[in-house]
Amino acid sequence: MLKALDKFFDYKPVLSIEELERTDFKNLLETAKTYLSEDEVAKVKQAYEFAKQAHGDDKRLSGEPYLVHPVKVANFLMVLKPDIETIITALLHDVIEDTPYTYEDIQVRFWKKVADMCSGLEKVSKVRYKDLPKDKAGEARHLETLKKTFLAMGRDLRVIFIKLADRVHNIQTLHFHPKEEKRKRIALETMKIYVPIAQRLWLSYFQTLLENGSFKILNPQEFDRIYSFLKKKFPQSDVIIKRGIQKLTQLFEKEWFKEFEIKWRIKSPYRVWKKMQKYKTDNPAKILDIIAFRIILPDVASCYAALGIIHQYYIPLLNKIKDYISLPKPNGYRSLHTTVLGFFSYPVEFQIRTFEMDQIAEYGVAAHFAYKEAGKSVSVSQQQAHWIQKLQEIVKKYQWYDDKQSFEDELQVEVLGKNIFVYTPKGDVVELPQGSWVLDFAFRIHTDIWLKVKSAIVNWKIVPLDYKLKTWDIVEIKTYKNRYSASKGWLNYIVTPSARAKLQRFLKQKDKELYIQKGKELLNARLEELGLPLLGSAEDKISKQLSKDELENNLILIAQGQLPMLRFLKKFWLREIEALEKQKLAKQQVKDEIQKDLASVKSEVIIDFDKSKLNYSFCQACNPKVWDRIIAKTGRTAIKVHKISCKSLKSINYAHLLEAHWENQQPQPYKISFRIWVLNRPGALLQLLSVLEEFRINILDLKLGDKKMIDGQEYVATELVLSLTQPAKIGYLIKELKNQRRLVICDKLDLVE
Ligand code: MN
Repeated sequence: MLKALDKFFDYKPVLSIEELERTDFKNLLETAKTYLSEDEVAKVKQAYEFAKQAHGDDKRLSGEPYLVHPVKVANFLMVLKPDIETIITALLHDVIEDTPYTYEDIQVRFWKKVADMCSGLEKVSKVRYKDLPKDKAGEARHLETLKKTFLAMGRDLRVIFIKLADRVHNIQTLHFHPKEEKRKRIALETMKIYVPIAQRLWLSYFQTLLENGSFKILNPQEFDRIYSFLKKKFPQSDVIIKRGIQKLTQLFEKEWFKEFEIKWRIKSPYRVWKKMQKYKTDNPAKILDIIAFRIILPDVASCYAALGIIHQYYIPLLNKIKDYISLPKPNGYRSLHTTVLGFFSYPVEFQIRTFEMDQIAEYGVAAHFAYKEAGKSVSVSQQQAHWIQKLQEIVKKYQWYDDKQSFEDELQVEVLGKNIFVYTPKGDVVELPQGSWVLDFAFRIHTDIWLKVKSAIVNWKIVPLDYKLKTWDIVEIKTYKNRYSASKGWLNYIVTPSARAKLQRFLKQKDKELYIQKGKELLNARLEELGLPLLGSAEDKISKQLSKDELENNLILIAQGQLPMLRFLKKFWLREIEALEKQKLAKQQVKDEIQKDLASVKSEVIIDFDKSKLNYSFCQACNPKVWDRIIAKTGRTAIKVHKISCKSLKSINYAHLLEAHWENQQPQPYKISFRIWVLNRPGALLQLLSVLEEFRINILDLKLGDKKMIDGQEYVATELVLSLTQPAKIGYLIKELKNQRRLVICDKLDLVE
C-alpha cells in the first residue's frame, strides 16, 4: 500500500498533449486492448479525439492541458476493467459542464447511454457539502441524505464509479489549488461523502486513495508524522517482515505445502491514525496490527489446511477467525482471516486465500461491473453482478418517487438494512429484525430448540443472552439434552413479537408441570438427606397414601415454598424423622448445609482481562473457591476455570491457558517453575535467555543443577522460575524451545502460584 501511496502523492504534471499521448493515454489504450474488441478500442480513440477538441486550450490549475484530467480519470478506472460505455463517459465526463458541447452532441456521436451518464455526472457534481446543521445528530442526518441523493442522482452506478475516480484525481492534484480554505473544504467533503460511498460500494482501492489524500490536506502534520513513521519502521526489507515471511515459509515447507506465496500488507497512514484515535494514543508504535501477512495458495482446500496448521502452532483469538470463503462479503470478497498470539510478541493477522481470490480482493467489487469480462470465476462475478444490480435497481427507482421519504425508506430497508441476515453454521440464511438478540434467532430456526437453550455461540465465541446480532454473524444454539431452560427472564431478551407470544404461551402451560417437577426434585433431595425412601421407590409411603392430584398439588406448594417440607414429611415418616431429630443429626445436617452454602459462594471471574465477562464454567474436579488462585483454559466451545493446582492441567497444551482472576481481586502474574536441559557449551544459556527475552517473560530465579549425558553430549539442568501475566505464552515458549537444537525440553513444569 505504501508503494501505491508513494506513487499517488508523487504527482508529476503532464504538460503537453504529446506527452499525454506518450504516457497516460497510451497506457489507457494498452489496458483496453487486453479485454475490449478492436471496434471498441477504436471508439475509445474517437472519444479521446472528441474530448481533445471540446476542451481545446483549457488548462487545469496545475498548468496541464485540461484533457489530462479526463484521461487520468479513465486510467484510475481501468483497474476495474470497466465496459466501453464507462470508459467513453469517463473521457467525456466534463464536456457538458465545461465546454460548449451539449447532451445532444454526445448522443449523436456516441450512444444515448453515454449521453445519459454524462448528464448524470453533471447532476451529481451539484451535490455539495456545506451549510451543515451544527448539532451532531443533525449533521449525521444531513450527511445521510446527501449520500443517498448522490447515489440516487447517479441512477446508473457506473456514474458513481466515474465520479469517485474523478474525485481521486482532483484530490491528487488538490495541492495546486491556491486557496487553503477551498482545499480544506474539498478534502472535508471528500471525507464526509465520497469516502463513505466508496466504502459502501466496497471500492477499497479508491477509498484508500481518497481518505489518505484528504487526510494529508486536512491534517498535514499528523499525516507526515505517521507516514514517515511507517516508511521508517516498515520499509520492504525490514527485519520484521523478513522474519515473518521466513517463519511462515519454514512452517509451510515443514508441513509439506508445495505451492504457496507469502505476501504482506501494511495499514495506510489514515487507517493507523483512526486506530490511534480509537485507542486514545498519539504513538503510532502502539498500533499492533500495522502489518498483516497474506498466504496465497492454489485452492480452497489448502486454504483451510493452512488455517489449521497456523492454529496448530499459534493460539488463535477465537473472535478474530473469519471465514469469508464459505460466507463471502456482499461484494464477493473471499478469504480466511485469523489473528494469533505467539507469532510475534503481539497479535498478528493472517489472511489466507487462493490466487484468484487475491486478484479479486485487490481490484475490489467493481472489478466485475464489466459484465463482458470472460474467463474469471463465474460464481464470484455473478454474485457481485447480482449485488450491484440490486443496488442499482433501488437507485434507479428514485426517479419514480415524488415522495422522497418513501424512497429513502426503501433504500434504508434494502441497502442500509432494517433487517439483518445471520447464518447458521451450515450456511442457511435467517432474516431477523434489526436489534434481535440470540434468543430471537433460537425461536426463529425451528421447532423446539428454543425450549432447551443452553448457550449461544456467535462467530465461534460464546456470547451472553443480551448479545445483539449483526448481519453476517454465524449463530449456533447449544441445547440441553433433556432439560427445558425456557424461562420468564427471557422475555427481556426477545424482540420478535411472534417469539414473545410463543414463550408466553409456553410459560403458562408449563408452569404447572415445572412446579411439579421442581417440587419432586426438592422433596427427593430432602428424602435422600434424611435417608428415607425416594418418591416412586418400593418403600415410598407418600405416593401410596396420596392420590395423583393430591400429590401434585402438594408438590406445587412445596416448589412455591408455601408448604414446609418437614411438616409434610412428618405426616408419613413421623417416627423416623423424630428419631433423627433426637440424635440432633438433622440439625447438624442443617448446620452443615449452611456451611456448605457459605463455602460455595462464588464471585464472578474475569478472564483474559476482558471486562465484558466471557462465559465460563468451573472445573468440576477442583471446584475453585473465591480464595483459590485460579486460571482458565479454553476448549472448543467453552472456557473452564480451574485452581492452578488442578490435576487436569498437568497434561494439557499450555497455549490454551488464559489469565483468570476473581472480579473483586487484582490480577497477579503467574509464577511457573520450569526445568530444562541446556547443552553445556558456551552460548547455549545465552540462547535460552534470548528466547525468554523475545517472549518478554520475566525470570524470577535461575539455578544451574545436575549434569547428564544425552546422546553423547553433556547437558546441564537449568531451573527457572518465570513470571507471566499471559499464561498461554508458556505454551508457545515450549514450542519455540523445542525448535532450538541446543536445548532439551523440560521434564518438570509447575504452576507455582
Ligand atoms: Mn472532472
